[in-house]
Amino acid sequence: MSAVWALIAAAGSGERLGIDRPKAFAALGGRPLLAESLDRLDRCELVDAIVVAAPPDWEEPSILLAEELAASKVVACVTGGATRAESVQAALAEVPEEALVVLVHDAARPLVDVAVIERLLGPLSEGFDGAVPVLAIADTLKCVRDGAIAGTVEREGLVAAQTPQAFLAEPLRRAFAGDLSDATDCASLVERAGGRVAAVEGDPHLLKVTTPADLALVESWL
Ligand code: C5P
Repeated sequence: MSAVWALIAAAGSGERLGIDRPKAFAALGGRPLLAESLDRLDRCELVDAIVVAAPPDWEEPSILLAEELAASKVVACVTGGATRAESVQAALAEVPEEALVVLVHDAARPLVDVAVIERLLGPLSEGFDGAVPVLAIADTLKCVRDGAIAGTVEREGLVAAQTPQAFLAEPLRRAFAGDLSDATDCASLVERAGGRVAAVEGDPHLLKVTTPADLALVESWL
């Protein structure tokens, strides 16, 4: 039985990278960005099966990439939606009833490793519905309105959330059956549906690639 499913959200356009293709197909170390997380999740013994949400018209190249990488755990490659949440919802529809755990990961964070996945799975056997990797915020946070500082945000207790995020399959499905608007991550939907989500230590190398400078930085870490 495939107990742990990994969904890769790879359907974003990545306009801020300024390239002629979706972000998941930007070049990173001589291969598409998506290859890095796909390869790493496929080689991770904790992951049993993988579904990719590809950009519209990029399903075929995604399947070919999985074949090239001999990523044998990839069972489906679906067309992503207009938002990240809709892309994850499309991938989640491929996960069978008997799945126990679903990991949801952004292709935009290529350097996923086994250690963070191990940290995420722990709370799921301790009564939590989900777990999220987080990093402390070093900068002072300001609220800006019309170019002027309108206030300073109390930093105590604030963290930055990363992916992969791990969930028990049932609470995740329930969360995705509701309203998906304004959801920038999966945990927010599970929280909104009343689920308990644990915070585990994140990884600075799980940087989300947004700009060309991010891509260069991640490439230097490869
Ligand atoms: O745009 P951003 O980098 O914040 O997107 C985070 C992740 O969600 C990326 O891996 C991107 O490919 C994915 N995404 C998606 N479908 C969308 C928008 C974003 O799968 N419609």
